[in-house]
Amino acid sequence: MCGIVAYVGYRQASEVIIKGLKRLEYRGYDSTGIALVNGGLNVYKKKGKVSELETYLKGMDLNSHIGMGHTRWATHGEPNDENAHPHYSATRNLAIIHNGIIENYASLRKELTRKGHTFLSETDTEVFIHFIEDIYEKEKCSLDEAVRLALTKVVGAYAIVVMSFENPNMLIAARKGSPLVLGIGKGEFFMASDATPIIEYTNEVVYLNDQEIALVDNGKLTIKNVANLPLTPYIQTVDMELEALEKGGYDHFMLKEIFEQPRSILDCMRGRLDSASNRLILGGLREYIKKLVNADRIMIVACGTSWHAGLVAEYFFEEFCRIPTEVEYASEFRYRNPIIREGDVVIAISQSGETADTLAAIELAKSKGAIIFGVCNVVGSSIPRFTHAGTYTHAGPEIGVASTKAFTAQLTVLNMIALIVAHTKGTITEQKFHEMLVEMEHIPSKVERVLKQNDKIHLIAEEFKDVHNFLYLGRGYNFPVALEGALKLKEISYIHAEGYPAAEMKHGPIALIDNEMPVVFIATKDSSYEKVVSNIQEVKARKGRVIAVITEGDKLIPSMAEFVIEVPATHEALMPIVSVVPLQLLSYHMAVMRGCNVDQPRNLAKSVTVE
Ligand code: GLU
Repeated sequence: MCGIVAYVGYRQASEVIIKGLKRLEYRGYDSTGIALVNGGLNVYKKKGKVSELETYLKGMDLNSHIGMGHTRWATHGEPNDENAHPHYSATRNLAIIHNGIIENYASLRKELTRKGHTFLSETDTEVFIHFIEDIYEKEKCSLDEAVRLALTKVVGAYAIVVMSFENPNMLIAARKGSPLVLGIGKGEFFMASDATPIIEYTNEVVYLNDQEIALVDNGKLTIKNVANLPLTPYIQTVDMELEALEKGGYDHFMLKEIFEQPRSILDCMRGRLDSASNRLILGGLREYIKKLVNADRIMIVACGTSWHAGLVAEYFFEEFCRIPTEVEYASEFRYRNPIIREGDVVIAISQSGETADTLAAIELAKSKGAIIFGVCNVVGSSIPRFTHAGTYTHAGPEIGVASTKAFTAQLTVLNMIALIVAHTKGTITEQKFHEMLVEMEHIPSKVERVLKQNDKIHLIAEEFKDVHNFLYLGRGYNFPVALEGALKLKEISYIHAEGYPAAEMKHGPIALIDNEMPVVFIATKDSSYEKVVSNIQEVKARKGRVIAVITEGDKLIPSMAEFVIEVPATHEALMPIVSVVPLQLLSYHMAVMRGCNVDQPRNLAKSVTVE
């Protein structure tokens, strides 16, 4: 994880870097640091967030036109000042920032220690820069060559930037497994984990590929790969608006992103779906659609919230397309020698497009001959660049660590894919296809209606904010929504919560129910409605406190539940896009009331680029 930014040009480097780190803080935020060339190669670093580093730097002379910064999500060594990046080399002539893990760091550290090196931190990263310097001194080569040689010897994942005191106009960057984008301005260069720190200054970017090394030296960019082949930089234009990266009057990014959903869902369907002309087109799939239509099996690989989106998709791929579908945690899939046959199609879902386990899972599947589709939000990220075909969710940058609008956009995309496949395959009727398109067009306004209940949900949060446990139950399409509701609550409010299929409750969780246990039922009117009503009775009979998400106009459940939240009726396959919204708001309000840092929950980071 972690965010990295580097700058060389005519501006004050520290200002560009600090601003950039704030944009990247979603990636990690346990310690922060910057390196500048002002007098010497100086490193300033601190445990804590970027704002704490800013306070520490106040009044210091930071005049420098080159620099780099890092916001860390610790993997090796606890978050403290020493382990924070940047790290110096032995002579302090070099410094590094690093995102990822150097897996063979222990043996390298042993070897370097034998040669007399001492280390100030417990990180793999410090070993890495000592190792680069060791090669630099031994080989008497250029610094970028020393970096290259070092990269041929390290195992693991990295995005790095290296600076040197001797070359105060030079930045060297490299990546394998962790993202790195270069920004090309007029007389200035930027490097960052994603484009958000860059777009304010330039929209011309180069996405560095795995095993590539970029050298910016005296205003010139050159790229080569680890095998020492020179490459031509492929400059692309990013299309992102600055305002999408600001809070826009909301207290938190998460709240802004929840409220953006009517628009983000619409953006996701824009130009793709039009019921009036009965048109549904996903340009990214066109070439490979036959593979999906003829698939013997669909395997969905994902992690976290994206995995929940995958679970919903399993229901509609089976229902509409009649294709057996399995949903896998990417981290499990990749380590269990999965059976992948010709005719299997793998769909990877990831907001960031950088999730390390998901990327590794599709690498494995591709090596076994599977066709890979991607459903990602971040344009130009690693997963979409690796897959055969895919569809972007176009939800706009999601900065709150807890995923909200990316989830509903993933569901929208997956629904569209399923409908295209079913339509092409003939497994749904023309009429049903048309009805679904019409219904999808109504989803943004239905989500809008749910958002109008924010005040009511705030009151419910008030009532339950001090509890220690929560149970979320749903069936059918709403079962993954129960999992997602529980996950949202855990991750931002630190309240223990579990999601279960409502019927499974009887096989264990029912033992937890007493008069203090809140149970959230997602109990909208669908094919399992009556069964869920019975499950509510079972909880009531044990004095559990029932909060129910119900369909507007339902008269029965309000007579049983302590609190109800009404959502508009829709087709049950589309209901998760609507029924998850009150659960997002419920966890948001509870977390705020409990004084939690909603946008940056403890121990988490948005883009999980380590295994
Ligand atoms: N492995 C490095 C560390 O623990 C970098 C982790 C990161 O990506 O933030 O410091």
